[in-house]
Amino acid sequence: MSKLVSAIKRTFADAAAPTVHFHQGTTNSFPEVCHEGACERPRLSVRG
Ligand SMILES: [Zn+2]
Repeated sequence: MSKLVSAIKRTFADAAAPTVHFHQGTTNSFPEVCHEGACERPRLSVRG
């Protein structure tokens, strides 16, 4: 789980866009990054 959290943090650091969010990826072990602010797909909730 800590690997996933650091991957997410790294992604947030790389992406300056405030609209970045995540969706359930094609594999259960990794989320899919999405930069589309108006997308209507269900977002993955990240809990610390
Ligand atoms: Zn999206």
